[in-house]
Amino acid sequence: MIQLIRGFKDILPGETGLWQKIEKTAASLFEDFGFCEIRLPILEHTELFSRSIGKDTDIVEKEMYTFADRKGDFITMRPEATASIVRAYIQHRMYAVDPVQKLYTIGPMFRRERPQKGRYRQFYQINAEVIGVDSPLVDAQLIFMLAELFKRLSVSDVSVHLNSLGCPKCRPDFTRALQRFLSKVTTQLCADCQKRKEKNPLRVLDCKVLACREAVADAPAMIDHLCGECEAHFTTVKNSLNNLSVQFEIDRRLVRGLDYYTRTTFEIQTGLLGAQSAVAGGGRYDGLIESLGGPAQPAIGFAIGLDRLAEIVAVNNKDAAGGIDLFIAALGEKAKTAALEWSCALSLCGIKTETDFSNKGLKGLMKRADRHGAGWVLIAGDKELDEGAAVLRDMSTKEQLSVKIEGIVENLKSKLTAS
Ligand code: ATP
Ligand code: MG
Repeated sequence: MIQLIRGFKDILPGETGLWQKIEKTAASLFEDFGFCEIRLPILEHTELFSRSIGKDTDIVEKEMYTFADRKGDFITMRPEATASIVRAYIQHRMYAVDPVQKLYTIGPMFRRERPQKGRYRQFYQINAEVIGVDSPLVDAQLIFMLAELFKRLSVSDVSVHLNSLGCPKCRPDFTRALQRFLSKVTTQLCADCQKRKEKNPLRVLDCKVLACREAVADAPAMIDHLCGECEAHFTTVKNSLNNLSVQFEIDRRLVRGLDYYTRTTFEIQTGLLGAQSAVAGGGRYDGLIESLGGPAQPAIGFAIGLDRLAEIVAVNNKDAAGGIDLFIAALGEKAKTAALEWSCALSLCGIKTETDFSNKGLKGLMKRADRHGAGWVLIAGDKELDEGAAVLRDMSTKEQLSVKIEGIVENLKSKLTAS
């Protein structure tokens, strides 16, 4: 039997209801905050990602699905969405209409990481980005909106981790201080971090290897090296979050796996997922748009890991799976023909209706009704049709009443919507 590829997964019918609920909740919340949806291709030129995410990052070094197409052009299955959003912003000169663009997108991302719980090679993200605003107030607004999404989904065990990564003015000094520190603990670092230490020292702080985490416990922190402007920016973000009653903790060690981040950086973490504790990550990327050939516009955004979010929402919504409204148990050919007509009409009225066109007896049909979790069952045999009335059973109370066949769709509609 052919099975799916390692690290990939199917999202089965039992799960999609939850995914739809999350996607709808996010889309409607974001639209209330003035965001518009953008839909982007999955394939992009490889260079888009190597230039934006950074050559010396795990993603670009070893995780991208990159291949030459038939003409030899290198293309990549997107590992994240921000670079594509920025590409579209520049390519369609969206800034000429309005430099401020608030965009969101939902879709699959691809990274060839080691598969494990909460880590897939095709996973899904919900992204939201604000381009063109440099005020720290918008940082607070974006984090507020993200926290509100978790509230609406009744996820409680989450915390906002906040840090600032400074800017090209203050970062180099810090990087040097960090490098000095790292050369003192070199022998304790993993092989990857030995390399990162030279090429991209900030990334050592993001290493998941325990020994590395311990080695950098006393490493210098960016927030102690911020320039005046970055310091003031960060202070306003913190004050504004306090004013909006968004709880957060300062996480001096928080960096992100992509090079383009500046200033405000944040992550939503949860205790519900074991080792993969990050459900969302984001931050400012004030230099990215210009570096990709666009205008010098600042930006901030976040990405939610939809797979991980679905997992924690499921923990909180154990009994959410709902059944259907009505099952029509039709006995006999005439009754089945009638059931076809009634079920189509009722479905059009928004009443979740199921029936069964096989030749089951009443016992078998009642079993099907149970399997569907039906709230009501309509029992109609050829005999009931002749007599002009069917039986409607309330599955929670087991009470039965008689419903006239004449005008039955209207009768059922008013009965079921009233209850
Ligand atoms: P992590 O630290 O867990 O590797 P990351 O820093 O690589 O995450 P981002 O690139 O910031 O993650 O992506 C944002 C979110 O997307 C993460 O917080 C996580 O919830 C989710 N995510 C990232 N990689 C994967 C993956 N391979 N499988 C499932 N979800 C993922
Ligand atoms: Mg990662």
